[in-house]
Amino acid sequence: MPTWNDHPVAVVRKPHNKKIYMRYQDGALVVTAPSFITDEQIRQFLFDNKEWIERQEKKQANTALREGGFLYLFGERYGLKKGESTRIENGTLFYTDETAWKLFIRHYATPRLRARFEQVRLRYGFQAVDLRFGFYRSKWGSCTPARRCISLNVNLAFVPLECVEAIILHELCHLEHPDHSKAFYAAIHRRMPDYDERMARLKDIEIPHF
Ligand SMILES: [Zn+2]
Repeated sequence: MPTWNDHPVAVVRKPHNKKIYMRYQDGALVVTAPSFITDEQIRQFLFDNKEWIERQEKKQANTALREGGFLYLFGERYGLKKGESTRIENGTLFYTDETAWKLFIRHYATPRLRARFEQVRLRYGFQAVDLRFGFYRSKWGSCTPARRCISLNVNLAFVPLECVEAIILHELCHLEHPDHSKAFYAAIHRRMPDYDERMARLKDIEIPHF
């Protein structure tokens, strides 16, 4: 059976089909192919469409807890499986229910995000802040300059690290500029010239629904 990133790809044989095509069904990649096409040819087809699949995978990932689904946690890809307890084992993330899952992710992500935050803060020479974490539906972070308080979304655990760094720098720069003025963005770009590219990558990533 052909695989993608070590995950089996479902192949549907249709004798009357003239060509190979693929789609996502319930979060899994399904290839439909004429009967005469070999597994080797399907592997080649997947390889030829590598970029499309990677784009789709990023869109499909992270949006729901789903048996057989997957997500990226701190840049590592994990398969999802329903289990007796919520844990990570050999590249698989076992989950039970949403409450346990949220607790697990908060516990797993907070120290890692805090370490990343401190790295970025020290790299760019900002004074210490009061750092908090929460699950937010529509924002990755926020800053209250008067209290030097920055909040980060725990779901940043599912975001590529270069984007996390850009978000952290964004919030840190609010300590100097509370608005989204030209001066604010100039302060960011001076420190991180590729800030815009990093933030553009975020457009393909949805805040998870759990
Ligand atoms: Zn802002």
